[in-house]
Amino acid sequence: MPQIYDVIIIGEGPAGLSAGLYAARSRLKTLILEKEKAGGQIVSTDEVANYPGSIENATGPSLVKRMLDQAKEFGAEIKLDTVKEVELDGKIKIIRGEKEEYQAKTVIVATGAKPRKIGCPGEIELTGRGVSYCATCDAAFFEDLEVFVVGGGDSAVEEALYLTKFARKVTIIHRRDELRAAKSIQEKAFENEKVHFMWDSVVTEIKGDGIVESMVVKNVKTGEETEIFADEEDGTFGIFVFVGLVPTTELFEGKLEMENGYIITDEDMKTNIPGVFAAGDCRKKSLRQVVTAAADGAIAAVQAEKYINEEFND
Ligand code: NAP
Repeated sequence: MPQIYDVIIIGEGPAGLSAGLYAARSRLKTLILEKEKAGGQIVSTDEVANYPGSIENATGPSLVKRMLDQAKEFGAEIKLDTVKEVELDGKIKIIRGEKEEYQAKTVIVATGAKPRKIGCPGEIELTGRGVSYCATCDAAFFEDLEVFVVGGGDSAVEEALYLTKFARKVTIIHRRDELRAAKSIQEKAFENEKVHFMWDSVVTEIKGDGIVESMVVKNVKTGEETEIFADEEDGTFGIFVFVGLVPTTELFEGKLEMENGYIITDEDMKTNIPGVFAAGDCRKKSLRQVVTAAADGAIAAVQAEKYINEEFND
């Protein structure tokens, strides 16, 4: 008979790792499942300036490594397995991974969110060939080249600033004439000589034979379309896309209550199914930050323990 975990946490970003730390520390038999590598979106971030206490060595990967080590130290088990199917209605929850099937008394969904695509022709075909969704991963390929950043939120502007360390010129293409990013981040961008702006503009097509060579940008106010070509000597340029997030919740469609793909919970992270909790960016909430993800994870783990004590201690 397979062992029954007290808690299975799906997802290993800050919400999942925090839940893992709190659950394991409460001596719950805890398994964290992750499909690729630890960290979630925060590992794509060079600088985490607003996680309390995170001043020295505050890169996304280093913060996540410390969270991971801490969760493991308290006894959380970690497995790399992609969850394919979940059965959440029974008293014992069943999680089917590509490699194994798992059982648990409670489940914490911490599957996070992934980058939204622009959705224009050429974007998918040229991903990894000039189009990127991760500046920390790909900035070095654009040393001394020109890059464009699409979006106007915190991610777009922060990552544009990071890209100035590599690229010779960074142009932010935003669909409005005002940024959405926090004022403190905007100020840094306006002060940086390498950062330029293309307002009221959207990318409508990306072109290239195996590598980005040009893109079509449309002014949404005038309707005018302009094709931007790579400098002849460079042969290419980078397009970094940061146009928001899409929750990774497909597995739970029709099972957990959602709004626009985000899982609905109460303030105790409880979903509509008893024993199933959600934490972090995958749930409906007003502030998506590492600090709120970590807080969600802690609350979910404490509530999972309470649920187990009430439902399984007979
Ligand atoms: P976001 O805040 O949702 O911003 C998305 C940006 O992309 C907006 O400027 C939006 O334009 C634009 N956009 C959306 N769809 C578009 C499309 N189809 N074509 C062109 N532009 C499009 O997303 P985010 O910047 O990835 O941030 C996600 C969350 O993480 C936010 O809650 C953010 O605060 C948080 N975050 C925080 C930090 C930090 O605190 N340091 C850093 C990174 C991210 P409009 O402005 O016109 O809507």
